[in-house]
Amino acid sequence: MEQDTDLTVDDLRELVATFRDIARRETGKELPDDPREQLRRSVNAVFASWNNPRAGVYRKLNNISDDLGTAVNIQQMVFGNRGETSATGVAFTRNPSTGVKELYGEFLVNAQGEDVVAGIRTPRPLAELESVLPAAYAEFIATMKKLEDHYGDMQDIEFTIEEGKLYLLQTRNGKRTAAAALKVARDLVEEGVISKDEALQRIEPDQLDQLLHPALDPAHGATALTRGLNASPGAAVGRVVFDADTAAACGEAGEAVVLVRWETTPDDIHGVIAAQGVLTSHGGMTSHAAVVARGMGKPCVAGAGELRIDTDAKTATIGDVTLTDQDIITLDGSTGLVFPGALKLQPPQITDDFREVLGWADDVRRLGVRANADTGPDAEKARELGAEGIGLCRTEHMFMAADRLPVVQQMILADNVDERAAALEKLLPMQQSDFEELFTAMTGLPVTIRLIDPPLHEFLPDLVEQSLKVQRLEDAGAGHETELAEARELLGHVKRLSEMNPMLGTRGVRLLMLFPEIAVMQTRAIARAAAAVAAQGLDPHVEIMIPLVAYSEELKRMRAVVADTLAEEATGIDATIGTMIELPRAALTADQIAEHADFYSFGTNDLTQTGVGISRDDAEGSFLNAYIDMGIVPANPFASIDPDGVAELVRIGVSKGRSVKPNLKTGVCGEHGGDPASITIFESIGLNYVSCSPYRVPIARLAAAQAVLGARQKDA
Ligand code: PEP
Ligand code: MG
Repeated sequence: MEQDTDLTVDDLRELVATFRDIARRETGKELPDDPREQLRRSVNAVFASWNNPRAGVYRKLNNISDDLGTAVNIQQMVFGNRGETSATGVAFTRNPSTGVKELYGEFLVNAQGEDVVAGIRTPRPLAELESVLPAAYAEFIATMKKLEDHYGDMQDIEFTIEEGKLYLLQTRNGKRTAAAALKVARDLVEEGVISKDEALQRIEPDQLDQLLHPALDPAHGATALTRGLNASPGAAVGRVVFDADTAAACGEAGEAVVLVRWETTPDDIHGVIAAQGVLTSHGGMTSHAAVVARGMGKPCVAGAGELRIDTDAKTATIGDVTLTDQDIITLDGSTGLVFPGALKLQPPQITDDFREVLGWADDVRRLGVRANADTGPDAEKARELGAEGIGLCRTEHMFMAADRLPVVQQMILADNVDERAAALEKLLPMQQSDFEELFTAMTGLPVTIRLIDPPLHEFLPDLVEQSLKVQRLEDAGAGHETELAEARELLGHVKRLSEMNPMLGTRGVRLLMLFPEIAVMQTRAIARAAAAVAAQGLDPHVEIMIPLVAYSEELKRMRAVVADTLAEEATGIDATIGTMIELPRAALTADQIAEHADFYSFGTNDLTQTGVGISRDDAEGSFLNAYIDMGIVPANPFASIDPDGVAELVRIGVSKGRSVKPNLKTGVCGEHGGDPASITIFESIGLNYVSCSPYRVPIARLAAAQAVLGARQKDA
């Protein structure tokens, strides 16, 4: 017997008895025969489902508040399993993977809804319904259009046909890939169904990330192991894992894994989140794995029927090929193909729909969008994605390269000014060439370069490691004297420079006050780079930024160092000099600081660290997640700005700064600059721009437009 429909009445009786036995065993209670009692229990089960762990995971992922609650609809039952003139199915009014307006759905004759999604029988494509039940099919097609016109959005519909009569069970706005979201939005505007503003509000900014994901290089030439359904686009490479817990553990540890399952269930959600992609041997385009992966923008190949999975043995066989949990595979969720090994992926393609819809967002938004970028290629990428300049170049990142670190160490360990000057002299041309790359990539647009920020000991060996090295050399005895002396000297430096709270120690402007020659070197490199780039006919816009200022006196003095150096260089390049506002004292005294600043950039990472008083390096790995689970904080304040505390400091800083300089340019360059919820707040504060990592630039552009539209709606 292949199908559940082949079961006879006696088989079904037996099955009911089995189910009753299982229920009795698991719950210790009899299943009630009273329909009212059954209904009451069903309703309770729905309410209770709000609190099951996987619902919690889902809400967290989708930023849905835990105290929102849920509702229960009670409907009279219709039956899709009353024989050959009955059927049930699910359909989308457009293709949720691509957004193309075409038939998209599946159905089963003589079945109930659960049978379609549970993957027990393989459903048939919706188009075949026309020949099976033509009248119900025609009515369904007309109804799909009516529903879409009414809601002005792509619908995800569940239907049942009972003895030839069509019933709709539910309709909702369909979940879709980012590519589909853009295409549907653009098409609905062209079809005159919705306005551009409405279309912009339909798109989830975070979803755009998917479009920026890699695809399979078309020239790979590899032969596929097997094919399944192209359930969620994009390509993924990873090691095969057979259960969600392993996927979650490995994925969180940074390993690329592909979750391989017969079919995923809601209990697997943590594994899906952590995996690069999902491969199932069962289920259709509307199966759990497909829907969840699409929502998350992860590649998914579903229903690869040739795949035989043995979860206990941790193997998957396709014909005579056996995959184990030591194998790497490549999935192409756009074609449904599965390949052995790691294929080359190509960078994401930006489509016309993407450009068009983001162009609408640019017409609406008020906030500027810049990128945080430290290298020429990053800056080019950012510009391609629509960045209007660089809001933060962290110069110390340039010090970490292998060829530079020894020179940086020489600078730190110098015993006198001359030695330090010699090291700085070597660093200058390196920095200059970095800045030339940035100014070239961003010609015509502002580039904010921040002078060195982190504590110097970050460039030195770890204290414990260096102590152990000394210990080992001491134990080694004769013959290692020179090495030992050097190691001891370095250990002395490391000890001298190490601090209990380095984040609150000698960093930022404090370090520059102690070693102004670093600021001089960096300013020279900036001025010379700008002059060199200008000499090639390009147009550098230079902004020099001083970090971690708490006192206006710090900025006054450091500004003088920078300004004097610029004057000495006499390159004729204009540069503005501003500061980061990233300490509460700076925000609260922003009126005093503004006297010496041409612009403010809020460093909301440090402002969160110092404003809330939680270590950004430690909290996320320790109590913060527990706090989020316990509902003490609504979200990670390092990801989404704390609206009542840290955002208030930004508001105060802007208002105090502008009380002295009404046109003071203000921006944000902390991680929050790319977070849609934070962007809404920055819009309300009236900042001039946000700055975020290159790949978040499109997200910020859309979120900034939505912030304007949301505010307009509120005012109306
Ligand atoms: C900040 O503190 O928000 C910031 C952008 O600087 P960094 O993250 O480099 O400390
Ligand atoms: Mg900072």
